[in-house]
Parts: sequence; C-alpha cells; structure tokens
Amino acid sequence: ADRLSAAEGRDRRLTVVSGPAGVGKGTVVARLAARRPEVWVSVSATTRPPRPGEVDGVHYLFVSDAEFDAMAANGELLEWAVVHGAAKYGTPREPVLRALAAGRRAVLEIETQGARQVRSSWPEAFFVFLVPPSWDELVRRLAGRGTETDAQQQRRLQTAREELAQVDDFDATVVNDDVDSAVARLVSLMGLTPDEGAGL
Ligand code: 5GP
Repeated sequence: ADRLSAAEGRDRRLTVVSGPAGVGKGTVVARLAARRPEVWVSVSATTRPPRPGEVDGVHYLFVSDAEFDAMAANGELLEWAVVHGAAKYGTPREPVLRALAAGRRAVLEIETQGARQVRSSWPEAFFVFLVPPSWDELVRRLAGRGTETDAQQQRRLQTAREELAQVDDFDATVVNDDVDSAVARLVSLMGLTPDEGAGL
C-alpha cells in the first residue's frame, strides 16, 4: 500500500518495467503494446547476436561493440548495462523523447541495473517491478528457455536472485502469474483506460 501511494505522484508517461531475467517482461510489455495503441515500447540497442526470428530494428537494434560504445560515449543512451556478464544493452534516448513529444506513453523494458540509472536521471518516472509467482516457477522459466548452456543458466539464476532483492526500490509490483492478468494490472497502474472485450 505504501508503494502504491508513492506511485501516485509519479509521471506515468514514462514507465520502466523491470524485474529478474526470465520473469516474462518482454511478453507482458509486448502484449500491453498490442492492446494499447497509445503505448510506445522502446527498442534497445544490444551487442548480443539476434536469436532466430528476431528482426533488427524491431526486437533490438543489433550493433557491434564499437557501435555500442560510440552511442554510449556520445550520450545517445538513456541508460545501459552489461547483462549476464556478456552483452551490452541500452536504451536510445532520442526515440523516447520523440515518443513523449508525440503524446505517447513510453515504456522501457529493461533489467535492474538500467532501471537504477533511469531512477537517477529521470526520478519522476514510474517504476514497476515484475515478479514471478514463485522462485521455483522462475527457475522453470529460465530452464525452459533452452537456448543456453548450464553455465549460462547458473549465471542467470544468480543474477535473478540479486535482481529479486531489489524489489523495494520500485514504485509498484506486478506478479506475472498469467500474462493477461499482469497486463491488466499494468494497465491499471499506468492509469490507462482498460479496453473492452479484450479480457481486461
Ligand atoms: P534478452 O537478451 O533475453 O533479450 O534480454 C536480456 C535482458 O536484458 C532482459 O532482462 C532485458 O530486460 C534486458 N534488456 C533489454 N534491453 C535493455 C536495455 O536497453 N537496457 C537494459 N539495462 N537492459 C535491457
């Protein structure tokens, strides 16, 4: 209740959705955007290679390490972080400003180190933490991804443990037990109008 009332003074035009790896941030945010045309989702730059089916400029801007470093050095990124000790991920600043200027609701789907940076540079933004229904469920989801080695999975679990500990730094928590319920709760927290007939 304390955190919810703290959320009331927030500028929810910029909403940061964070949470541990494997919690389903991407799925929840993608469904939110599909439901709510006023929601604009930032496309991050990353140095990791595309997974099958991922499209450059849609899922991520896939860039080289040198390109990423240049973007960071030129102040083009709102935040950035090295994730899982491997690739760099960052939010291009300009598209966020353009979306806000166009009257859209900007959503960043980023991990917790990046969320902390936005918290210091954009403190009035609205910070939502997505949590799994249980630790065991998170372990299952991380294992179910199936695109990683054991060592990579162990690293993800360790990171997830550290990330979950940061829940108190956020304005609100959403449990991702079921994608539609999580989206409905996010819609409500963001003060968006629920659309009729979509199960919201
Ligand atoms: P994946 O490689 O599985 O797509 O994403 C790995 C992690 O990077 C996810 O937790 C995702 O939220 C996070 N991530 C994606 N884009 C950004 C970004 O621009 N900045 C930060 N800090 N994290 C990001």
